[in-house]
Amino acid sequence: MDYKKLAEMLFPDIQTTPEEIFEKYPKRQLKEGQVVSRYAPSPTGNMHIGNFFQMFISYNLTRISDGIFFLRLEDTDAKREVKDAKKVIFEILNKFNITCDEYQTLDGKDIGDYGPYVQSQRKDIYKVFAKKLVSDGKAFPCFCKKTEGKEDILKLRENKWQADDEKEYDPCRNLSLEEVKSHLEKGDKFAIRLKTKNSGKERIKFYDLIKGEIEAKANAKDFILLKNDGVPPYPFAHVIDDTLMGTTIVVRGEEYLGSTPMHIELFEALGFKPTTYCHNPLISKIGENGNKRKISKRYDPEADMRFYFEKGIPTQAVLEYLLNIINSGFETWRANNPEVDWREFKFGVDDITAVAPIFDLVKLGDMSKNIISKMTASELYEAWLEWAVEFDKPLADYIKANKNFVIGFLNIDREGQKPRKDIFMMSMIKEYFEYMFARPNLDAIADEDKDNFNEFMAAYAKAFVFPNSNEEWFALVKEVAASLGYATDNKAYKQNPAAYKGNVAKACEFVRVAITGRKNSPTLYEIIKVLGEEETIARLNCKK
Ligand code: GLU
Repeated sequence: MDYKKLAEMLFPDIQTTPEEIFEKYPKRQLKEGQVVSRYAPSPTGNMHIGNFFQMFISYNLTRISDGIFFLRLEDTDAKREVKDAKKVIFEILNKFNITCDEYQTLDGKDIGDYGPYVQSQRKDIYKVFAKKLVSDGKAFPCFCKKTEGKEDILKLRENKWQADDEKEYDPCRNLSLEEVKSHLEKGDKFAIRLKTKNSGKERIKFYDLIKGEIEAKANAKDFILLKNDGVPPYPFAHVIDDTLMGTTIVVRGEEYLGSTPMHIELFEALGFKPTTYCHNPLISKIGENGNKRKISKRYDPEADMRFYFEKGIPTQAVLEYLLNIINSGFETWRANNPEVDWREFKFGVDDITAVAPIFDLVKLGDMSKNIISKMTASELYEAWLEWAVEFDKPLADYIKANKNFVIGFLNIDREGQKPRKDIFMMSMIKEYFEYMFARPNLDAIADEDKDNFNEFMAAYAKAFVFPNSNEEWFALVKEVAASLGYATDNKAYKQNPAAYKGNVAKACEFVRVAITGRKNSPTLYEIIKVLGEEETIARLNCKK
């Protein structure tokens, strides 16, 4: 077979050579240890946390090695492409303050010398290499699809696929030049398939930076390199782009491990050096049946990156939680360096977990509480407002119009030695400080306490003088309680509870419910300071 002639017949318009392409993509001049890695999302939907996780590993490896992090849009699946998905990718990266060194802007400008960074704009490049493989006798045209009815194809496959579990040779690999010519004359569309060199018996070894040495069955399938519309499915595009763009480490999800032998055969067929892979474990959950399963957007709201924005979980908390998953050493580092930016945390590929981490929202919430507790009231105000502008417009208007009051209550039990650690997301603040927006109901007072409550509140409201300190506030509660027959000494109360109406703690609880509607709250004295004298007195004058 004259493969050169075949290649010319298939790709008459492609006259560029692989060498000419390589001239446009010179080898990157890197310093020792510098990593070039990338984030290669497909704009097919909302971003999945697993996808973000993989991106974050790539990003960190490049950041720590002072390398290059680029964004490549893998938009080769037009049917699955979701409108605005590209925009969303940028929005998410921006929100997390993750910057790419090379990428294509939304209006189509390439930043960097290795573009275009969008696969749909690289079709001619893929064709150059497809042509080369055909002319080397390593790939062939496949006319099956669209040339026959669907049933015919199936029959054809049944008879002609020599698929005996060991190899999958496509029937079209044996077409003669004349047969190809006649198809082309009829205007039949063709795909390009790899003509695998393997017979199904071979095994290969490759090294993965996380998994170590892997032995697997070599590829023995004539898989598709270019679909009949000229668009490459993942394997061909990956091998060519990561070679031309000089990626030194391909970080990708473990789900690609099984198809790595295909990619390795392709690298070799093209005469390229296989890339270095780093297959990251997939973030998991414990399913209903107690088994570990991949986190999924279908069952786990937190699998969708929108969840974190909608809930208003600080991006820093998400990033730090993921760092903690990537490398458990992060937690100790954070404890020893409480004030240092997370970007100072260094790790290498060897430190990346090899075991699928179980995603724990409670733990993420705890990390978030810690981060929020360190914000000043003004910082929290800004963060809450930013969240509300996007997710709760009326609240945003309120926050803006009542800035000083809002900062006042956000400052309760904050900015001190031991700030409270209750708040872990912006979406909970309104409910958390519900009593700042409206007078509370008194449902928390049990029916059997009703009379005591009414009696105590009447006496306390009458005696009330706006306090100047927490001590002063407490002293008055104690005084009124004692005058009504409450125990001021807890020991005495415990010895003979029947002799008292209750203890001072009970009296404090009454006041707390009157002011906040709750039995637990931040420091009451701080709350009344924010509410002010008039409002406090109004709340004390209550009756159940
Ligand atoms: N577009 C692929 C994905 O989103 C990229 C995988 C890779 O990083 O190589 O899964």
